[in-house]
Amino acid sequence: MNASQLEALIRNISDYPKPGIQFKDITPLLSHPKAIQSAVDLMVKPFLSMNIDVVVATEARGFLFGPSLATYLDAGFVPVRKSGKLPSETISHHYELEYGTDCLEIHNDSIQPGQKVLLVDDLLATGGTIGATRTLVEKLGAEVVGFTFLIELLFLKGKDKIGPGLVHSIIQY
Ligand code: AMP
Repeated sequence: MNASQLEALIRNISDYPKPGIQFKDITPLLSHPKAIQSAVDLMVKPFLSMNIDVVVATEARGFLFGPSLATYLDAGFVPVRKSGKLPSETISHHYELEYGTDCLEIHNDSIQPGQKVLLVDDLLATGGTIGATRTLVEKLGAEVVGFTFLIELLFLKGKDKIGPGLVHSIIQY
């Protein structure tokens, strides 16, 4: 399947989770076996020869793609989770939301200094989530070589806020 066939499987839900938000629901795409395979193929393509050591994905929808991408790249998979969810020792990073702050964590022994890391999430909006994930990875001394998303909301200009590295997305709005 190509990008426009995948786009046809994304459902727009108006005013969810709050008024004014156009929520991009990827569950119809996930329920279609050929679509999952195609999405993963397209998301991984630019990174195949970049010697990625670790794929890092952010809770929760990043986890739907992270391990599949890692398998393709012969890389490890490391989760970044909301505060209090990871069982062993973590480092954390607090970041600003539209209203208030949030906190993400990573296990402090999950990535070694100098390892090459690909960051993944389902959707790039303002870049706050993936930017915080980048900060955690860099606190561990690793190198962020790129970012891959199924969807990018271009009008929010998240790309401008997430720092250097190749930013790849399959479907843009
Ligand atoms: P941001 O930190 O603003 O880049 O937001 C990215 C995170 O929020 C991703 O993990 C997305 O799953 C989720 N998200 C933000 N906006 C939307 C949207 N319009 N539709 C679906 N998910 C969204």
